[in-house]
Amino acid sequence: MRIAGGLIAVVLVLPGAASARISDGAGLGFAWPADGIVSSPFGPRAGGFHPGIDIGSLQALTVRAASAGRVAAAGFAMGYEGYGNVVVVDIGGGFTTIYAHLARPIAHIGELVSRGETIGIAGCTGWCSGTHVHFELRDHGRAIDPIGFFGPGLPLGYTPSLIQGG
Ligand SMILES: [Zn+2]
Repeated sequence: MRIAGGLIAVVLVLPGAASARISDGAGLGFAWPADGIVSSPFGPRAGGFHPGIDIGSLQALTVRAASAGRVAAAGFAMGYEGYGNVVVVDIGGGFTTIYAHLARPIAHIGELVSRGETIGIAGCTGWCSGTHVHFELRDHGRAIDPIGFFGPGLPLGYTPSLIQGG
């Protein structure tokens, strides 16, 4: 098992379901959900707060599950106003992942999805100014920065200098 030094602390806080997967050869951490780069990071933005990361400059519109879990919501869902079409995946341990602004969901409520499985098609529904995937991680309902959960390695094209607003 390969663990990059910087990822150890992150791995330790992964939920039970994800931890179990670490030993099955599926790889550490989250799979990258779309073929693009981070166009807007988690954190303060334009006087507000951006609760996830935006993945833009998409090379394909396929959206894949970052981690295995059970689909808790799909489509336009109560409590996700502005997110457009979403797929929400409960990944266990009180953690949920949200994929937003989809053109359409593919996964259905109640369905078990595996890490890397296609769960939707990217689009620009909801409060959106250009096609991208908004990926959000919540710990017992509170949004946290997901970037450290991706591993091993960040996707090609990601460097902090590429981060921009919008
Ligand atoms: Zn976003």
